Amino acid sequence: MIRGSCLCGAVKFQLLKAVGPFEMCHCNRCRKKSGSSNLSMVGVVAEDYQLLCGKEQICAYSAPILYAAPAYTSYFCKTCGSPTPPDVVSDFFEIPAGLLDDSPGIKPDRHIFTEFTPEWDEISDELPQYTLKQLYRLRHGKDLPPETKIKSHYDVDNA
Ligand SMILES: [Zn+2]
Ligand SMILES: [Zn+2]
Repeated sequence: MIRGSCLCGAVKFQLLKAVGPFEMCHCNRCRKKSGSSNLSMVGVVAEDYQLLCGKEQICAYSAPILYAAPAYTSYFCKTCGSPTPPDVVSDFFEIPAGLLDDSPGIKPDRHIFTEFTPEWDEISDELPQYTLKQLYRLRHGKDLPPETKIKSHYDVDNA
């Protein structure tokens, strides 16, 4: 079993395995959520996942939808503020890799949304880097619709 927990330990979970992908997202919202240059997320399927305790500790914040649903939602522990897995999980979902107390058994695959990397963040490993457009093509096998407002979707509008 791969164990995971929040900073204070009120939220604990375990995984049978992590299926991936294992991505490091550099988008503006993931940077704010993580407080760092990127947010490393590991893909998990629901049947491999078990929340052991702390469901009532998990809060959710959904950022305003700037382009299309679903909203970007951040889950966090109400005691320590640490990110957590979602309180209600879908068939496939992602867990912030920093919550894991054991190795997930897989390594990061790629950097994503690299066009949003801040100038102080130099990606110095050899992993592939994907912009939003490149990632869309990878996931959907076709180009992003030209009308997509990339900038407004991923830029946090503080005005
Ligand atoms: Zn906590
Ligand atoms: Zn992101």
